[in-house]
Amino acid sequence: MARNTQDLLSDRARLLGPNVATFYDDPLHIVRGEGVWLWDAAGRRYLDCYNNVPHVGHCNPRVVEAICRQAGTLNTHTRYLHDGILDYVERLTGTMAAASLNTAVLTCTGSEANDIALRMAEAVTGKRGIIATDATYHGNTSLVSQLSQSNVPQVGFGLEQYFRFVPAPDSLRHPDPDGRLFAASVADQISALEGEGPGFAALLVCPYFLNEGFPDHPDGWLKPTAEVVRKAGGLLICDEVQSGFGRTGTHFWAHEKMGVVPDVVTLGKPMANGHPVGGVVADRDIVAAFRNGYRYFNTFGGNPVSCAAAMAVLEEMDEAKLMENARLVGEYAKHRLRALREKHAVIGDVRGSGLIFGAELVLDRATHQPASALTDRVINEMRARGIILSKLGRHKNTLKIRPPMPFSAQNADLLFDTLDEVLGAVAASA
Ligand code: PMP
Repeated sequence: MARNTQDLLSDRARLLGPNVATFYDDPLHIVRGEGVWLWDAAGRRYLDCYNNVPHVGHCNPRVVEAICRQAGTLNTHTRYLHDGILDYVERLTGTMAAASLNTAVLTCTGSEANDIALRMAEAVTGKRGIIATDATYHGNTSLVSQLSQSNVPQVGFGLEQYFRFVPAPDSLRHPDPDGRLFAASVADQISALEGEGPGFAALLVCPYFLNEGFPDHPDGWLKPTAEVVRKAGGLLICDEVQSGFGRTGTHFWAHEKMGVVPDVVTLGKPMANGHPVGGVVADRDIVAAFRNGYRYFNTFGGNPVSCAAAMAVLEEMDEAKLMENARLVGEYAKHRLRALREKHAVIGDVRGSGLIFGAELVLDRATHQPASALTDRVINEMRARGIILSKLGRHKNTLKIRPPMPFSAQNADLLFDTLDEVLGAVAASA
């Protein structure tokens, strides 16, 4: 049954219950995708500057073909022997520079991956205290949702005692160019956890702090923090659900960009281009401690179709040289954003690396007062003009531009020509 927008909204409320979010004041009804393009039910085309899950492009033919081929052959679970998962894990771990990141658990979501990572930390250290930033999101299980401060759950499930938060890095308002202030705040929370009971098990961070607004940090910035964590005997867990798979253009993994070797890396979103695949990569001993401790089995995790889809993503990344594309187009995008900053006073800061970039919109460049309401208007105006992007960060005033990896310089031109128009229109009507 084809519904119009109003019917879709009322049927969602009736059938799915309250609090099921949509994007935009005028929610989108998307019916088709191809590469960096999306089409709505009326046949209108949109440039997708936001979605990172279709990493190698919406409906990428190689991925579609791999899924169809494997789905037409066999789909079971990991209690039967199969080459698919082994070939994939071999290739995946081969993308990681550290020899210690050599063993994997495959899941269906990033949340499951982080949940496993926290339990690995418990299995290895015998302690339960976890540290994260106070403006992040790491997922939706009862355990992991406790540290998703950007979306605080109303129910604690009795787990609150295990979590401590450090201020999210903010390179615009609180510069910390060598990462020592961040490391010191982690050290403070380690002391608090060690003093109060649960002890310190792990620090869980996105190495590029994407949900926090991707602050401008030099490569190697996490080194002092990693030292503090190691000295205290805890694990460093890097959540690469958003930052991984070449997104930053310079490194396949953002932890490598930030100069650290995590004990555990968690993966998700782009891993299989929209087919639900997540994973955890760690040292064999850490995985063994977890597998022995928890006897983990995941019915769908690592099934042959999922592995075929995930493998096709890595192949496409290589063949289409998408990380190199991210680096080149990302540099061009930042150059265009900096030029817009000269013209529009509302652009307070331009940041990013590769195909995660954006601008922080401020009411006053001296005080950096966030232009949160205006950012919301910009996003909606861009949508009205056929460009899909979003906002993020503690103040929800940072434009979040994170397109599929085949995004081109020509696509960037359309994005920034439109943004130029919208910033002018929004400023004129303010
Ligand atoms: N970690 C990060 C950094 C994320 O951004 C998200 C999802 N936005 C998750 C974990 C959770 O992933 P999933 O929705 O697949 O459970």
